[in-house]
Amino acid sequence: MKEKLAINGGPKAVNKEFLWPIFDAGDVNAVTRIAQSGKWGNPDCGDEVAKFEEEFAAYCGAKYAITCVNGSVSLRLALIACDVKPGDEVIVPPYTFITTASSVIECNCVPVFVDIDPNTYNISPAAIEAAITERTKAIIPVHFGGLACDMDAIMDIARKHGLRVIEDAAHGHGAEYKGKKLGSIGDVGSFSFQSSKNLTSGEGGIVITNDDELYAMMRSLRNVGRIEGGQWYDHYNPGCNYRITQIQAVLLSQQLKRLEAQTRKRNDNGLYLNHLLSKVKGISPLSRNEAITLHCYHIYIFKYDPAAFGGLSRNDFAAMLTAEGVPSFKGYPHPLYKQPLFQNKNFMCYAIPDHVDYTQVYCPNAEQACSSDAVWILQHALLGEKEDMEAFVNAILKIQTSQL
Ligand SMILES: *Cc1c(COP(=O)(O)O)cnc(C)c1O
Repeated sequence: MKEKLAINGGPKAVNKEFLWPIFDAGDVNAVTRIAQSGKWGNPDCGDEVAKFEEEFAAYCGAKYAITCVNGSVSLRLALIACDVKPGDEVIVPPYTFITTASSVIECNCVPVFVDIDPNTYNISPAAIEAAITERTKAIIPVHFGGLACDMDAIMDIARKHGLRVIEDAAHGHGAEYKGKKLGSIGDVGSFSFQSSKNLTSGEGGIVITNDDELYAMMRSLRNVGRIEGGQWYDHYNPGCNYRITQIQAVLLSQQLKRLEAQTRKRNDNGLYLNHLLSKVKGISPLSRNEAITLHCYHIYIFKYDPAAFGGLSRNDFAAMLTAEGVPSFKGYPHPLYKQPLFQNKNFMCYAIPDHVDYTQVYCPNAEQACSSDAVWILQHALLGEKEDMEAFVNAILKIQTSQL
């Protein structure tokens, strides 16, 4: 029987609010304690910040962690510490948030876009290898949606060519590759604590590393170029004030206590959705293999085939799914190189050679994900119960039935 779609005024298939962030009196009391102490910030961030950095580094199995104002600046800290020079090339995927690539521009370097694997939406190692030139300095793999990149292959390529690897793990808090926490495998791992992310303090970011020199440099850059043991008004490195407040740090310490259980819950619900959706014609979840020991599903992604939905476009399908009460989205409208920023080379950066022309870049897999294939279900929805996952699938089936 055809039911009236919610987008046309019918009843929703899913009648539940999925909240984010999740917090309780413990979080509120922690913030209140800092507010009342008056120790909101500190020239060197303060003890609550240092405490959270230790906790996060330990959680990730890394030696060091350095907080900063967001998950875009964290990429900048990593790039500068990795000693990129004007005109150096940095390999990035085109299916990601803008700052994965614009942080490269901010460092006067050239982002080189290479395509994603259509089965995982992660950067393709073969495409990385094909894009390496003598100017290549670093690779920024993005663990898209929280699904680990093929890190063995990427680290092999990086070692072979002497490149730095900066993991953009802004979607990857708590997720694992072969038992290792994302961010702990490359030279630096970068995370965001922006409000939508799987660990949040409203805004914020962090870098993790095992390397003493990268650690010292990123700490210096975060603190206006000051160095350990240096004088207050002596500045050595091209940094800025990228420090977070103690209030953010206590919130993050509280939130971190929930991260592992939340990650496991999303992982289990994602596997259950994979199972349920394997029976739905026209819906193909991205593939995950045995290297993915834990997926944090910052985004649960499936590929949509209009042929199984009477020709209904992906954009119309995604709008209907959202109206049915599934926290979902069609995702990025175009690959990053199609952004006006890149098409027009509207950079305050004079080191990008004239021959670099983003109008000539074309990554077919990223194009297809953006224009017609990808549908995203957002992380907080994966914190629901098994029956909620079943309700999401029923919403998809309701739309399918209405079109046939
Ligand atoms: C969110 C995000 C960032 C940037 O983080 P902010 O904290 O918002 O600056 C970087 N990379 C990816 C992949 C992201 O999703």
